[in-house]
Amino acid sequence: VLILGIESSCDETAAAVVKNGKEVLSNVISSQVALHAEFGGVVPEIASRNHLEKIDEVIRLAMDEAGKSFSELTAVAVTYGPGLVGSLLVGVSEAKALAYAIQKPLIPVHHIEGHIAANYLAHQDCVPPYVCLVASGGHSHLLYVEDYGKIKIYGRTRDDAAGEAFDKIARAVGLGYPGGPKLEQSAKEGDPFAYHFPKAKLDTPYDFSFSGVKSAVLNELNHKKMLGEEIRVADLCASFQEGVCEDLAEKCLQLALDLGVSKMAVAGGVSANGCLRRKMEEKAKAHGLSFYCPSPVLCTDNAAMIAAAAYYDYQAGKRGEASLNAYPSLALTEG
Ligand code: ATP
Ligand code: MG
Ligand code: FE
Repeated sequence: VLILGIESSCDETAAAVVKNGKEVLSNVISSQVALHAEFGGVVPEIASRNHLEKIDEVIRLAMDEAGKSFSELTAVAVTYGPGLVGSLLVGVSEAKALAYAIQKPLIPVHHIEGHIAANYLAHQDCVPPYVCLVASGGHSHLLYVEDYGKIKIYGRTRDDAAGEAFDKIARAVGLGYPGGPKLEQSAKEGDPFAYHFPKAKLDTPYDFSFSGVKSAVLNELNHKKMLGEEIRVADLCASFQEGVCEDLAEKCLQLALDLGVSKMAVAGGVSANGCLRRKMEEKAKAHGLSFYCPSPVLCTDNAAMIAAAAYYDYQAGKRGEASLNAYPSLALTEG
């Protein structure tokens, strides 16, 4: 089974060819980071226009690198939500046209199911059932992956997503965009225990809330500015990262223990963060659990993960119609 995956939900134009849901034959990513940097975040209109300019070339490169022709493909898969509507529409329209032209089935993929499937590319033994933390720019979900395509949501964020919090803090301390990687870099020079930011107290065990810690960091920043005191950005970053990653890792471990599963995984852009990966690995190890995380390039948006997720949908008989639309706030379906 040879699947071409297409991803354009946010600011990465990506195409990849994956064999049997496991073997990445090509993984082409055209990032628009430089285009959006001067605005401090993704500008939707600029994003969709750039997808339109790049998508044909990105697909051609993915096919060339894989050394495959369109006729050898089994199916064409595409992210149809959630994401920016204009961006999603570029990928969806392209995938529909291509699938029709080459007379191959079309497989619509949920972006978050794509992030989850990134672990199947790297780890042959990451097999359901397991607990998965998805921490990305728009989501912070604690999931029980009972089987392929069978997910139960145990926790989510009440406000900001983890990646969103990283991005907002990075911008506030002047690190710019994209915030997550820059904040992690700065944190390397800082003391993670210089500040103790409050952890949100919630009445549900697996939910998250990051707006409180965000406000605490911003207050500290403004307070120091007002007093004209020196701001140790690295300490702020390290302390923020420590608190958020500890919370994410601890709740994921707790869910795995409560459900009695032997494996836990992490996916999504924030799973590229070394502090989070380390914490999750340590906690898993301490309790005799296996831990899985994608290689860094497969943590953030890419199309290999979309093709990987599509493999299981393909086996299950899921197909997209020519009338397939883009759904900016597509919900994750629980099965
Ligand atoms: P979603 O997947 O929820 O639709 P998205 O596709 O925009 O959102 P991803 O590409 O999965 O998000 O991840 C991007 C997010 O990951 C950004 O918020 C970014 O700051 C964060 N991120 C990337 N690398 C790191 C890192 N090393 N440390 C912390 N955060 C990171
Ligand atoms: Mg992105
Ligand atoms: Fe994403």
